[in-house]
Amino acid sequence: MHWICVTRRIIDFIMDDTRNLEEKLAYYQKENEELKLRVEELSDFFENASMPLHWVDAQGIIIWANQAELDALGYSKQEYIGFPIGNFHADQHVIEDILNRLVNNETLYDYTARLKCKDGSIKHVLINSNVMRKDGKFMHTRCFTRDITGKVQEEQRKNDFVTMVSHELKTPLTVINSYVQILINKAKKDADNSSGQLLTRIEAQTKKMIAMVQDFLTPARIEGGKIELRKEAFVLDTLINETAQYAKLLTSKHSINLIADESISVEADRDKIGQILINLLTNAIKYSPKGGAITIGYEKHDEKVRVFVSDQGIGIDKSHHKRLFERFFRVNNELKEVSGFGIGLYLVSEILRLHGSRINLQSEANVGSTFYFDLETLN
Ligand code: ADP
Repeated sequence: MHWICVTRRIIDFIMDDTRNLEEKLAYYQKENEELKLRVEELSDFFENASMPLHWVDAQGIIIWANQAELDALGYSKQEYIGFPIGNFHADQHVIEDILNRLVNNETLYDYTARLKCKDGSIKHVLINSNVMRKDGKFMHTRCFTRDITGKVQEEQRKNDFVTMVSHELKTPLTVINSYVQILINKAKKDADNSSGQLLTRIEAQTKKMIAMVQDFLTPARIEGGKIELRKEAFVLDTLINETAQYAKLLTSKHSINLIADESISVEADRDKIGQILINLLTNAIKYSPKGGAITIGYEKHDEKVRVFVSDQGIGIDKSHHKRLFERFFRVNNELKEVSGFGIGLYLVSEILRLHGSRINLQSEANVGSTFYFDLETLN
């Protein structure tokens, strides 16, 4: 009897255990199916997402790309995957820079690049990318590409239109200016002061319009490589002094201060550096409606000289800093009545680029702005 009881207990125990195991098995099978479903969903999401995506390994070889990327550029998988990403970039220095930044752990946001399509056309894109690492090792990039070709072409059409209109306006304005000069001289000869005064005003406004038209034409000339710098050695203090005196004539609301270190000579295009300073000073005046101090000056900075213009005006919120030097960009601020076309800072940055320098900015909304750049010194 005792043996029968023991055997029964053992059988019950085994049955319990088997039931437990069966339940566990069913649970893991369900988990496994769910996991498979998730993997399928995720790979479907990446493979069939409408945004072009790809991965590149540490050697710069494309190891995966989704259908949207292949469709956008017109290649088949066999023509694209397994090849160096550099083969598909129109500008080699750009892809070198991208890979360099990614290797150095940088995340790229809206990095502009030009890609080569199979049919020979070029696509303008914005790249957002970073790197997947395992135990610190570079596995692959995660690269999202957004096509902005339409936007770039529209921008180009707008620029071409502005350039064409400006070009057409330039000749009649120059002719008007020469006739006004003749009339001013005549008024002087005839001692006709009242006509002379009116004509001088017309002359000032015409000159303003010619300068404006010139500003519209300069970007196209820079982009077409038609602007050449006329570099010469000059004393920076004198130029800064001259521009400060000019700025004083433009405002009675602001105090224009000068900060100059020891006398410094530089080798640069004097007229164009003067144009930069005038642009920065006129902006400082325009965007400080309550007045305040505007300072123009320079200081020795290592082997270079740092030139700066600062104001106590409305300042510029950080969110705008990145786009500030784009052509036609204007901050949508409360100063609606301040006229402008968003060209001044673009010209400043382009002229400095031609000098191998760049414009920098420190600015905070409602506190003020400082724009500065470095030039090589001669002494
Ligand atoms: P514009 O003055 O003709 O609009 P700019 O290219 O010179 O064009 O300047 C671009 C924008 O940058 C301006 O519209 C303005 O919003 C902002 N900005 C430039 N300089 C200053 C400054 N000193 N203080 C505040 N905002 C500025």
